[in-house]
Amino acid sequence: MKRLVVIFSMLITTYGWSQNTFKRSLMLMGSDFEITVVAPDSAAADKHITNAVNEMERIEKLISSWDPDSQTSEINRNAGKKAVLVDRELFELIERALGLSQLTDGAFDITYASMDHIWQFDGSMQKMPNSEEVKASVAKVGYKNVELDKINSAVYLKRSGMKIGFGAIGKGYAADRAKKLLRDMGVSSGIINASGDITAWGLQPNGAPWKVAITNPMDKQKAYGTLPVTEGAVVTSGNYEKYVVFNGKRYSHIIDPRTGYPSNGLVSVTVFAPKAELADALATSIFVMGKTVGLNRIAQIPGVSCIIIDDKGTLFASEEIEIAKL
Ligand code: ADP
Ligand code: MG
Repeated sequence: MKRLVVIFSMLITTYGWSQNTFKRSLMLMGSDFEITVVAPDSAAADKHITNAVNEMERIEKLISSWDPDSQTSEINRNAGKKAVLVDRELFELIERALGLSQLTDGAFDITYASMDHIWQFDGSMQKMPNSEEVKASVAKVGYKNVELDKINSAVYLKRSGMKIGFGAIGKGYAADRAKKLLRDMGVSSGIINASGDITAWGLQPNGAPWKVAITNPMDKQKAYGTLPVTEGAVVTSGNYEKYVVFNGKRYSHIIDPRTGYPSNGLVSVTVFAPKAELADALATSIFVMGKTVGLNRIAQIPGVSCIIIDDKGTLFASEEIEIAKL
């Protein structure tokens, strides 16, 4: 009896040793993604990673507002005209997005997208848009004008010219789905980095937790710090990549849906939450809400915390986060 136990425990140890880490980097949703899994060999890892990539490409086809063939584009084309029948998955994503608008008093709003021809952050903007243009576009923004018909799984944007976009939540959602798929396939451990939206599960083969680096917004070559992540998501939204400068002022790619102007004051927001989708949406929202309202709102949501860096380089964090000075 005793020997049997010994053999059994040896088997487990050997199994643990034979696991390795495999990584693939690729472009998805216009951004850099990285998928890392722990698997016994490269063939198994390749198969799992390919499945995860396929899943994320499938999601991109559903939620992309650039792809004219996506259901999302179909909803946008029919704004002010008629309701569009969509897959349950997209319907539910929109339903959750509207819930997040309520949670953030409208700071998070997928209908911000009707502003995307006014503010462009790809280097093409030469001058500040005039206030009339901003006013006319922001009049079309408003999550309360998205009508959901749950029975028919239909979505209607009530005003013509309205538009939805998943730029602030799509990568988080895709990361969550890829993680779920990998877990369901029996991958015991891994980490997905969807361009700063990170979600991990399990431990590294050596038993250590996965580590995530937070970029220093004042010097993006340097990490602000690294932290361990075992279960759950860490999402960093920064305005050090996509922004424009007019008259010496930096305008971030996150728009305040209430004014139509880009948010300012913060340079980086990191949110910890059980799901990447929630963390992604909240990181974007904190940019709009600002430091004080943002910290207060996060404190009210169980299991969620954040680190905020303002444009003077000062760091603020939720009470449960302990910052060790580097
Ligand atoms: P990143 O994509 O750089 O990680 P975020 O997750 O913060 O950054 O998302 C920013 C993107 O979200 C913008 O590029 C835009 O597509 C979209 N967006 C901008 N403002 C809002 C807003 N107030 N609510 C929802 N989405 C927004
Ligand atoms: Mg976001």
